[in-house]
Amino acid sequence: MKNLKKLIIITGPSGVGKGTVVKELLDRNKDIWLSISATTRNPRMGEKDGVNYYFISDERFKDMIDKKEFLEWAQFAGNYYGTPLSTVHKKIEKGFVVLLEIEVEGAKQIKEKFPEALSIFLLPPSKAELEKRIRNRGTEKEEAINRRLSRANYEIASSGEFDFVLTNHDVDETVKGVFKIIKS
Ligand code: 5GP
Repeated sequence: MKNLKKLIIITGPSGVGKGTVVKELLDRNKDIWLSISATTRNPRMGEKDGVNYYFISDERFKDMIDKKEFLEWAQFAGNYYGTPLSTVHKKIEKGFVVLLEIEVEGAKQIKEKFPEALSIFLLPPSKAELEKRIRNRGTEKEEAINRRLSRANYEIASSGEFDFVLTNHDVDETVKGVFKIIKS
């Protein structure tokens, strides 16, 4: 794949605010394109197929793995998530900066395959704050919240493996920090 510096990974634990930061990045710079992932989890209220995710069955996901149609994929809290390869290629070739908003295992896979990709890990201000954010989001049941929180400990321990680490105290500050990294 050409121009790999144009591949930017935003990773970090569930609830850290990746989605909000990414939305601001997209609003402020139209050369950035966000990859839409495929997932086997059920849509949350208000989520749309082809907009938030491609919501697909386990069978279809496994078929895509077999056909090597993912740039990376991982299991997270009982579901599969993956980045479809074909559109990422096309967008990079068209000159876009391609942004991936993914969990830590997938981010590590990309760093191994494409060391030139830029990876940014978002840390929560504290674990208590992370729990508060996941609970306030109100999108998960207790069991799913607990899965995400126990996974967060492991994910935070991996933060040192990425190129940059930003603590997400404030969305505006974090977005400015990301732009500084991308432009440097
Ligand atoms: P959620 O269920 O909250 O939408 O996502 C759960 C986790 O999966 C989040 O950390 C999110 O960033 C991550 N994720 C979303 N899409 C992908 C993907 O394509 N690949 C990987 N590895 N993780 C993803």
